[in-house]
Amino acid sequence: MRTAPTPPAANFVTTASPVGKPSVKGWCPGALRPMLSGDGWVVRIRPPTGRLSAAQAAGIAQLAERHGNGLIDITSRANVQLRGVREASHAELIDGLRAFGLIDANAEVEARRNIVVTPFWRAGDGTLDIAAAQANALAQPDAPNLPKKFGFAVDTGAQPVLQDTSADIRIERTASGLFVRADGFATGARVTADEAVPAAMALARWYAASPRSGRMAALVGSQSLPDAFQTPLPPLVAVPQWQVGPNAHGWLVGIAFGQMSAQTLSALAECADINALRITPWRMVLIEAAHHVPEAPGLITRADDPLLQVVACSGAPQCQHATIDTRTVARALAPYLPADRLLHISGCTKGCAHPKAALTLVGTNDGIDLIRHGTAASTADRCALSADTVATELQRLLHATPI
Ligand code: SF4
Repeated sequence: MRTAPTPPAANFVTTASPVGKPSVKGWCPGALRPMLSGDGWVVRIRPPTGRLSAAQAAGIAQLAERHGNGLIDITSRANVQLRGVREASHAELIDGLRAFGLIDANAEVEARRNIVVTPFWRAGDGTLDIAAAQANALAQPDAPNLPKKFGFAVDTGAQPVLQDTSADIRIERTASGLFVRADGFATGARVTADEAVPAAMALARWYAASPRSGRMAALVGSQSLPDAFQTPLPPLVAVPQWQVGPNAHGWLVGIAFGQMSAQTLSALAECADINALRITPWRMVLIEAAHHVPEAPGLITRADDPLLQVVACSGAPQCQHATIDTRTVARALAPYLPADRLLHISGCTKGCAHPKAALTLVGTNDGIDLIRHGTAASTADRCALSADTVATELQRLLHATPI
C-alpha cells in the first residue's frame, strides 16, 4: 500500500446549477450517426479488425484537429472517437475518414459492425481473417436486425483475453481449438476457422428470432440454444496479466482516462511507422513491434502509474449531465489509492465509464457520493461530500476497513 500524506482539498464541483437526470439512449454513436454531447458531436470510428495503420492514425489526428476539438477517446469497445465535432464540419470529416477506409456503406452496417478483436493476435493465427469475415457478414443486406449495442468478440490469440469485455457472441480459442458461444451460456460449438463466422451468424440469427429483452446473456435460463451449440465450453486457458510496457507483440501504452490529444495520436502514429496501432478495450494502445514509446502528454508508460487504477468518465465540462470534473478528482485522488484498488469516478449516476461494481464516487447536485462497492447507481455509503472532505473521507474508509 502506498503511504500518502493528507490529501489536499480541491474545488471539484464545477456546475453552478443543478443538472438534470441523464437519459439512457440505448444506442452508441457512430461516424455516420454521431451523438451530441456537452462539447459538441461525438463521432465514433470502428477501426477495421481493431487496427489502425500509421497513415490512418495520423489522418484521424489531423481530422480531429480540423473538425473537432482535438480530443480523441479510446472506448471500452476498442473504438476511437473524435470529440467536439462541429455540425457544419461533419460531412467533410466523413469524406476525410472515408479516404482512409474508415467509413462503412451506411449507418445500419456501421451499427452492426460492433466487433472487438484481441490485440494479442499473431501473424498467421487466423484472427484478422476471422475479424474481416465477421465484418463482411454483418455488412450483407440479409444480416439479422440486432439491437444497437449487440456485439461480437474475436478472441482468437494464443489465449482469450476479452472475457471481461462486453460482447454477445464470442469466437474464442480454447485448449481444444476454436469455439463459438453465446455470452452467458455454458455451451457452444467447436468450429474450424472457416466455420467460425457462419456459426457466429447462426447464433445472431437465432437471437434475432428469439423473444428477447436486452443483451444475449438475458436469455440464459429462458431460452435453449440450437442443437449445434450444445457442446460444453472447454476450459479456457488462464488469462495472462497484461500490463503497460514492452511485450512479445510490441509496446503496450496506457492512455490516461482513455483520452488523448490529436498531437499525442500523431506521435503514436509516427512511432508505429511502417507497422500499426492495435486499439484495446482497456484504455491502452499496442504499438506493433515497437521498442520504445514517444514522449507525449497523456501517455502512461509505467505499469505502476496510479492513473491506471482510476476510471473516470468525461465529466464536466465535456458532458452536460456531469456535476463534477471527474478527471480533476481522479488526478487528485489516484496517489492515495492502495496499489490493488480500482476507483471509479462518475459525473452522474449513469456510470458510463464503468458499469461494474467498484469503489465509486458519484457527482450529484449536492456534492459527491461515495459507494464502498457498487455501481454509480447504487445506494451511497456517504452522501453529499464536499470538495474539502471527499479525499479525507475516502482515505479514512480505505484505511479503516478492507473494502
Ligand atoms: S456517467 Fe459521466 S459521461 Fe456518462 S452521462 Fe454521466 S456525467 Fe456524462
